[in-house]
Amino acid sequence: MLARLHKLFYALHLTDCTIYILASPCPMCLGAIYYCSPENVVYVVSREEYEPFYRDDRKYFELDNFYEEYCKPMDERRLPVQKHFLQAGLDVYKQWNQKHGTKYAT
Ligand SMILES: [Zn+2]
Repeated sequence: MLARLHKLFYALHLTDCTIYILASPCPMCLGAIYYCSPENVVYVVSREEYEPFYRDDRKYFELDNFYEEYCKPMDERRLPVQKHFLQAGLDVYKQWNQKHGTKYAT
């Protein structure tokens, strides 16, 4: 049992799992769900159903417009985001690929 839980906890791929969640996944959760690639996802309530009970108190996030905002190009969003390229940022990916021997290792 512990070995199975350990394996599940550290797994990056949940291809043989079903994930049960309370609400239809937000973009953050959806990204994580896509990343771990489960067999199936089950949710209980939709965004439209829980919206009357949701409290907006964030500077850049409102349930009414978040999904519209999320679809905009980065430089058109209300959230101020700037790119500052650093070669060292790419080097981290290269080092990870070399360490793990992926097909992208150079
Ligand atoms: Zn979420």
